[in-house]
Amino acid sequence: MSEKPFTVQSYIDFINEKKLMGTKCKDCGNIDLPPKSICSKCFKDNVEWIEVEGKGKLATFSAIHVGTTLMNNKGYSMKKPYLFGTIDLDCGVSISSHIKGFDELNPEKIKFGTRLKANFEDGTETFVDRKGNASERPKVFLSFVPE
Ligand SMILES: [Zn+2]
Repeated sequence: MSEKPFTVQSYIDFINEKKLMGTKCKDCGNIDLPPKSICSKCFKDNVEWIEVEGKGKLATFSAIHVGTTLMNNKGYSMKKPYLFGTIDLDCGVSISSHIKGFDELNPEKIKFGTRLKANFEDGTETFVDRKGNASERPKVFLSFVPE
C-alpha cells in the first residue's frame, strides 16, 4: 500500500494527505497507531500500513486551560480552553487527539461514549530553517468532532 518507513514522521505525512494510517501486524493482526516498525504485541517486524477509519467513542478527555504554544497561537487560552482526549476507535485501537465541536466551558455536559469522527483541517505551521528564517507552510491538523 505504501513504501513509507514505519515512523511517526510518515504518520504525520499521511495526516497531511488527510489519511489516518497505522501499522498492522501480519502475524498477529495487532494494529498500532501511531505506526510502529515492530508490533507492540508480538514484537515481530512483519508489519504493513493500514488506513484506519477515524470513527469511535470518546473514552477520556481533559479541558486544557494552559496549553502548548501551538494551541495558544490558535487562540486558546485560560478563558477559551480546548479539549484533549482519548478516542477508542472502532478498529480496536485508541488515539489521543484534540476534540472539537463541544462546549469547552461546560465539559461536565460532555458524555463519555459520544460517537466521534476524525476531522482534517487545513492550516499552516511556522517552520524555522537552520538559518533562523521563519516561514509559514501548509499543514493539516487532525482533531475529532461529533459524528
Ligand atoms: Zn504482532
